[in-house]
Amino acid sequence: MNPFLNPRIIIPFINNYIQDPKRLERLNPKELEKYRDKALKKIFSKAYKVPVYKNKYKKSGINPNDIQGIKDIIKLPFISRQDLSENYPDGVVSPDFDLDKGHIICTGGTTTKYCCNSGSDPVCTYTDTPSLLRGSIITTRENRFHNLNMRNTRFAHIGNFNPYKFDEVFEKNVIKYAKTFVSFDNYYNIQASNKTHEIIEKLETFKPDVIISYPAIFQDMAYLKRKGFGNNVKPKLLFVGGAMLDNYTRNYVETAFNCRMFNTYSSCESGAEIAFECTEGNWHIHSDFFHLEAVDENMELVNPGERGRLVITKLWGTGTPIIRYTGMEDWITLGNGEKCSCGLKSPIFGRPVEGRILSNIHLPDGRSIPPSQFLYITDVLNKLKTFKVKKYQIIQNTIDEIDILIEIDEDQRNKEPSFNEISEKIKKIYKENIGTNVKLNIKEVNKIEDDTETGKPAPLVVSNINTIESCKRKCK
Ligand SMILES: [Zn+2]
Repeated sequence: MNPFLNPRIIIPFINNYIQDPKRLERLNPKELEKYRDKALKKIFSKAYKVPVYKNKYKKSGINPNDIQGIKDIIKLPFISRQDLSENYPDGVVSPDFDLDKGHIICTGGTTTKYCCNSGSDPVCTYTDTPSLLRGSIITTRENRFHNLNMRNTRFAHIGNFNPYKFDEVFEKNVIKYAKTFVSFDNYYNIQASNKTHEIIEKLETFKPDVIISYPAIFQDMAYLKRKGFGNNVKPKLLFVGGAMLDNYTRNYVETAFNCRMFNTYSSCESGAEIAFECTEGNWHIHSDFFHLEAVDENMELVNPGERGRLVITKLWGTGTPIIRYTGMEDWITLGNGEKCSCGLKSPIFGRPVEGRILSNIHLPDGRSIPPSQFLYITDVLNKLKTFKVKKYQIIQNTIDEIDILIEIDEDQRNKEPSFNEISEKIKKIYKENIGTNVKLNIKEVNKIEDDTETGKPAPLVVSNINTIESCKRKCK
């Protein structure tokens, strides 16, 4: 049956569609606090029936009445990636959840089990159609901020439409049925694994106003655009997410497309955008949908303004609850309550999300640097005002040896600055920042390969020593 004909689905959806987008602007701080308290209470009581949570809570002596609001959340134990993957499928939903009506969404993971026999297995969670619909409303909030009319604007989404991926699950269970009632001619989904030439050709025909994709896909498209392909692809706005966006790539892509690019922050587990970047460059958190905490390596809360590991709580939805979940493994810095000059009232991050904890760079002097802070190379390239580097990748091999791989744009090979000059400047800036105890190899390569384990585009920063470090921690 078409879910849009089911009043139990469509009536709450319409109600949410009216209430959700402007909630953060409409409610005063007290009202919002009350709303969040109520939402957490509801989610917690649902979670108490879900085996993975129930067992943990019972062990910690948590009773169903212990959580009256957000302030009580610190009483709850954390839930890890491993907790969810070990308890999947029956243990991650309540016994009354109809698995047949549920939809499974899985995160990426590596196939190699490198430690504790679990490594980074994919995590699968359950959602359902009402939750998919609710999550999509959050996007409406972002589109409104950017003055994008959902009916007239032409959106091209270059995403991951493989089975069990959020994009595919949404397409199969929402868009397919919604098409019976509304035209989706102004929406176009393209599989990101297509060849970049083919993607550009498709965009040429579709002529999008907005393109949504991953940094690496934008980078590849921008490269072709610079070579004269896709002349009719003239978007007004680009939304980027799913991986860290560095300043060089941003500059490279924005210049090629001649429009601005904004970050969105989400994950498979969150089921909706958690935060988005506004025109002032601040990341606004959808705090009526999510409660975010930041903790240190001992899992103690850090102060606002201090960098910590993300702990996320989803204050909405059905299926697998996400309460104090540590598995996204991103570095975040919560704000001090400062307001953004763009006019939105929602809380902002103290600084943009800084990439995966597992990609941290460890130095012999004991420093541990988040990946986004280790991109000194982007300063060099931006200062040299060159787009000669097509791609780059930083790989930490050992504690005292780091490779920087560089892919050069062949058409610009003979243009200034020379590879040698770029290379010397990169060496200099790293030496200034990390000292002389680390051997830095700048290598030109023909191609920076995609991640062979996950098939995803190569991450900007890879640490081969973190795997061992994180295993030690997990196996303790
Ligand atoms: Zn703002």
